Amino acid sequence: MVNLHHSRKITADHALLEDGWHDRVSVMIDVHGDIVEVSSGPAACMSGADWHCRYLLPAMCNVHSHAFQRALAGRTETPRPSGDDNFWGWREHMYQLANTLQPEDIESISRLAFMEMLEAGFCAVGEFHYLHHQPNGHSYQHPAELAERVMAAAADSGIGLCMLPVLYAQADADGSAPLAQQQRFSNSLDRYLTLWQQAEQCLRKQLPGDSSIGIAPHSLRAVSKSQLLALLQHIGPRNMPIHMHVAEQTAELASVRQHLGLAPVQWLLEHAEVDQRWCMIHATHAESAELQALASAACSVGLCPQTEANLGDGLFAVQDWLQLAGHTAIGSDSNINISIAEELRLLEYTQRLLAQRRQVLLPLASAATTTDPPRSQGEQLYRMAVAGGARALQRRSGVIASGYHADLLHLDSRHDALDNLDQNTLLDGWIFASGRAMPRDVWSAGRHCVVNGQHVQRQQIQAQYRNTMNAIARR
Ligand code: ZN
Repeated sequence: MVNLHHSRKITADHALLEDGWHDRVSVMIDVHGDIVEVSSGPAACMSGADWHCRYLLPAMCNVHSHAFQRALAGRTETPRPSGDDNFWGWREHMYQLANTLQPEDIESISRLAFMEMLEAGFCAVGEFHYLHHQPNGHSYQHPAELAERVMAAAADSGIGLCMLPVLYAQADADGSAPLAQQQRFSNSLDRYLTLWQQAEQCLRKQLPGDSSIGIAPHSLRAVSKSQLLALLQHIGPRNMPIHMHVAEQTAELASVRQHLGLAPVQWLLEHAEVDQRWCMIHATHAESAELQALASAACSVGLCPQTEANLGDGLFAVQDWLQLAGHTAIGSDSNINISIAEELRLLEYTQRLLAQRRQVLLPLASAATTTDPPRSQGEQLYRMAVAGGARALQRRSGVIASGYHADLLHLDSRHDALDNLDQNTLLDGWIFASGRAMPRDVWSAGRHCVVNGQHVQRQQIQAQYRNTMNAIARR
């Protein structure tokens, strides 16, 4: 376990607070990594800081990740001989990898993915974890072995973890048994609950206090209606994140319609008491009446623009959703390219291509986040996703204020893309004009994980990952 430095006082020339930019800002942090005091202007005491920043922002929560899929990045872009170059064909690549990995591989790959998330500016991650068993479906001696490997990787990297153990139980909405390649993911509800409890115990014992756990019924394709309803009844009113893939693929929609009689979102709305705990992942093909009901239910939508584009999923009706003031969060999902800027840029650019105009999401995103007059597309998108991410993971994050975790990001003011930009255009420089080398320092609940542009353990984590990938290639 890495001993990460905990900052106790951070100062900034300029910081993005809840009501906008402030100058001369001092942030005091307690031993648990919570902000206890923020002062700005002439009253702020700037001496005695652990770290001084030029531009300080709240860091962002990444609401949807399958960390092990980082090992697939760049490896699935050659045409498949079978011709099924779509989500379902990609899934065969994923199964092939998933069934090769040993527990130590999963830990090593997850550690690299979490390190890259921190370097990208994410302070926390919702890990949608579905690899549970040995490839033949038998439990490990310790049933939560693989969840614990992911948790160990999170602890080593310093990222704030919201663990989302996945219930996966069938091959399709018709109730067919899991395929041979899905044995590793599959659980009965009882087996899942045992695993979940062990994972929770481990999390409480071994991870920092800002870690949390929720539930993740995989999708209406992979969980039966009776299992889903029994799981929801089991957790009752406990306030924990409930994340689920919904309406990502048209084939999934057709199957759910055929076997459950309704489209996935509509079915959930009618049967599952959707509320603010829920985060619908993708919701790509949700229709406008469904979006309206989701917004009324105060749930979140977790969009993963790069993965959705890479897999050819389709386009979520983000303009309609923002018009409804829907809560919007961002996830890196398959981790093909872990970058806040790329996710937000793609979200806006796809809408520009559709609408044949510019600044499409600016007024909509600003309405969802602030009463300020909209100033900059980059800033409004960023603020929207920071607020939405914190909400979807139920993390005290997204605001630089007393009572929140010190989830902070220092933007690299020496980067060429920020030359001659001021506070009003700074985030446009990052989101629209730079790659991912922009976050200079990143703190997760006070843990100073990224220092001067690099994770504090980058060399070791990268070397371990290379060894892992070489070992996998030799198998
Ligand atoms: Zn996913």
